[in-house]
Amino acid sequence: MKYFNRNQTKKINVGGVIIGGGSPIAVQSMINTDKADWKAAVKQIRELQEAGCEIVRMSLPDLETAQNVARIKKQIKIPLVADIHFDYRIALEAIKQGIDKLRLNPGNIGGKENVQAVVREAKNAHIPIRIGVNAGSLKSAHTLKNNFARAKELVKAAMEHVKILEDLSFKDIVVSLKASDIATTVEAYKLFASKRNYPLHLGITEAGSTFNGNIKSAAGLGIMLYDGFGDTIRVSLTANPVEEVRSAYALLQSLELKSSGIEFISCPTCSRCQIDLIKIVGQVEKEAAKIKDLKKLDKPLKVAMMGCIVNGPGEAKTADFGLAGGKGEGVLFKDGKILKKVKEKDWVKTILSLIDMKIKGR
Ligand code: SF4
Repeated sequence: MKYFNRNQTKKINVGGVIIGGGSPIAVQSMINTDKADWKAAVKQIRELQEAGCEIVRMSLPDLETAQNVARIKKQIKIPLVADIHFDYRIALEAIKQGIDKLRLNPGNIGGKENVQAVVREAKNAHIPIRIGVNAGSLKSAHTLKNNFARAKELVKAAMEHVKILEDLSFKDIVVSLKASDIATTVEAYKLFASKRNYPLHLGITEAGSTFNGNIKSAAGLGIMLYDGFGDTIRVSLTANPVEEVRSAYALLQSLELKSSGIEFISCPTCSRCQIDLIKIVGQVEKEAAKIKDLKKLDKPLKVAMMGCIVNGPGEAKTADFGLAGGKGEGVLFKDGKILKKVKEKDWVKTILSLIDMKIKGR
């Protein structure tokens, strides 16, 4: 696994998951179930943890929702973060219920005494606080046209919240500075990193639907990750949150920062292709996404599916295994050697059974 020159940040423990200080980048998502339905929350969190989500966040809009935290936590395995606005009492309740991290901005949860009470309890319970500044909720930022000026406003707002916590000797801080445009976000993170070494949670907020959001997030997060910034990430999508986790892994894997188990290599197809490669790759990826034990693989499995003999054998040979297409069939390579010919109709099951064998160590 390759790591870029990562921005050196402070190590923070989020319910057993260490973020910052060069730790692997943690994948986050957020549930979107009905606030009153704690069983639906558990179900969705379990789906997310199955998909590889490492830290999950839920909104706690009121005290009643916060009172469900303990029963939700009992049934999940990953750290739970509470997203809180305006009311410090919700934060106190969440801490009492055993929450693993708070996402709140100390400047907007009430007066000084209220903030002091939350910080005191968070400190006693060893719970970190993420300060999340969002350009959309910052009047001073969204009236500015210039990206650098907007970024400065975001950082200024974040620093105000940071200083409130630091003045109370609270240092278990994580920071996010999200805007819906890439330039502002990137500049804000860079500027903040020049001021403090708290771990950074990256995201391009309100990025859009699965298609648009993935592209925008990949562009924005890709720039920052390549520059070494980021200790946790969320790919925000207007979609089922499981998609966010899948996208985050694909993004981190493409930068060799994390493994999602399998790295698929497939060609775009062209007029030389004489098999239905688009359908085959779609089916293999769909079925592979359901495999639960991919994390048992100590390094990502490289699987090539190529349309013809022009680039096919080359890619298939360097993969753990791969198929290079011919007319209605293809040649199967494993560990660089030709194994046999496989008919087009058998490609999907052949690849899936080879993945299965690899997981079982055969
Ligand atoms: S591998 Fe063959 S089919 Fe695929 S894009 Fe290249 S030339 Fe075309």
